[in-house]
Amino acid sequence: MSQKPYDYLIVGAGFFGSICAHELQKRGKKVLVIEKRNHIGGNCYTENRDGINIHYYGAHIFHTSNKTVWDWINQFAEFNHFTNRVVANYKGKLFALPFNMWTFHQLWGVITPDEVKKKIEEQGSYIQNPQNLEEQAIHLVGKDVYETLIKGYTAKQWMKDPKELPKEIIKRLPVRYTFDTNYFNDPYQGIPKGGYTQIFEKLLEGIEVQLGVDFLASKTEWLDKADKVIYTGPIDAYFNYEFGPLEYKSVTLDLQKKDTDNFQGNAVVNYTEQEIPYTRIIEHKHFEFGTTDSTWISYEYPTPYEAQKTEPYYPVNDATNNALFQKYKEKAAEFPNVIFGGRLAEYKYYDMHQIIERALDFLANH
Ligand SMILES: Cc1cc2nc3c(=O)[nH]c(=O)nc-3n(C[C@H](O)[C@H](O)[C@H](O)COP(=O)(O)OP(=O)(O)OC[C@H]3O[C@@H](n4cnc5c(N)ncnc54)[C@H](O)[C@@H]3O)c2cc1C
Repeated sequence: MSQKPYDYLIVGAGFFGSICAHELQKRGKKVLVIEKRNHIGGNCYTENRDGINIHYYGAHIFHTSNKTVWDWINQFAEFNHFTNRVVANYKGKLFALPFNMWTFHQLWGVITPDEVKKKIEEQGSYIQNPQNLEEQAIHLVGKDVYETLIKGYTAKQWMKDPKELPKEIIKRLPVRYTFDTNYFNDPYQGIPKGGYTQIFEKLLEGIEVQLGVDFLASKTEWLDKADKVIYTGPIDAYFNYEFGPLEYKSVTLDLQKKDTDNFQGNAVVNYTEQEIPYTRIIEHKHFEFGTTDSTWISYEYPTPYEAQKTEPYYPVNDATNNALFQKYKEKAAEFPNVIFGGRLAEYKYYDMHQIIERALDFLANH
C-alpha cells in the first residue's frame, strides 16, 4: 500500500484541475490542489468590485454546441442571456462584427447581399495566389474590409506587419450575408450570473486547496506527496525549459474604474486602427447588464512574451513550436504518474467548453 499522504496532487485550480479534483474527490480519492496564484479559477477568475464582476484575465464568454457540457456547467451557476455582439472602432467610426450585412452597410452603404458579393469580388479577385496574410485577407474579403477592420488589429495582435505573417493564420474569414451580429454560432451562450469564481468554489468545496504555492519551486518534494499528479501548468516549465521555451502571445490588461455608469455601451469594443496601441476595451458590467453608478473597464495591450515573466495566453502553434512541443510531450510520456492536462500543459488554445469536454473525457477513461 502507498505511504503517500494523497492519492492525487493537482497543480492548478483552473477548469481542468478543478474538474479533476471535484470528480476524483467524488470517487473517494484523497486530493490536494495547489495553485500558484492567490485565487482559484485560473484564467476564468472573476472578482467583484463595486458590484461588477470583473473578468480579471480578459473577457470570458461561455458558448458551446455541446448540450452535455451546457447541462454540466449549469449545475454550478445560473447563466444569463448575454450574447456577444462585438463593435469595432476604426478612427472614430463604428462597425458591427463579425463581418455581416450591417458591417457592409456601414462600410459601403450597400443594402443587399448581392451588392456585397459583387464588391468583395471586385476588390479581392485580383489576388489569385495569396502569399501572405495581407493578400489572403484581401483575397477573401476585399481591400476595404481588410484596411478598416483587419490590418491594424492583426498588426497589433501579432506585433508584425501582416505582409510578414504566413497566410495560414487566416484559413477562412466567415462572412455573413445576413444582419446577424451574434459573434458565436453555438446554440448555448451566456455569462454565469454572479461571475465564474462561484463555479470553482462549488467544484472545490470540501477539497484541500493551497493558494500561492508554486509546484515548480519544490517539485521533488511535491511529487513525493501523491501517487499521481495532474499538472496543468506550462509543459516547458515542468522540464525547466530543457529544449527551449515554447512561444506564446501575451496580453497586458490595464484595469481602470471610470466615474460614469456607462463608458462604451457594449461589453467588447475592438480598436482596429494601428495607431491606437490597445486592441480592445472591455466594459465588464455589460456582461451582466449591470446598473451600478460607476464602471470598470480593461484596456488590452498585446505584449511580447517572455517565459516566467509575462502571462502565457495564446500558444503560437506554428511548425517550429509544435515540433518543440512534441519533444516535451515525448519526455512527459516517460513519467506515467504525471498527467499533463489543460491549455498550458497541452500547449493548445482551448475555449472553456472544450477544456470541460477534455477534462470530462479524461476522467471517463481514467
Ligand atoms: C484572454 C483570454 C480570453 C479568453 N476568452 C475566452 C472566452 O471568451 N470563452 C471561452 O470559452 N474561453 C476563453 N478563454 C479560454 C479559457 O481561459 C480557457 O479555456 C481555460 O482557462 C483553460 O483552463 P485550464 O485549466 O486549462 O487553464 P488555466 O485557467 O490557465 O489554469 C491553469 C492554472 O494552473 C496554475 N499554475 C500554472 N503553473 C503552476 C505551478 N507551477 N504551480 C501551481 N499552479 C500553477 C495557473 O496559475 C492557473 O491558475 C480565454 C483565454 C484567454 C487567455
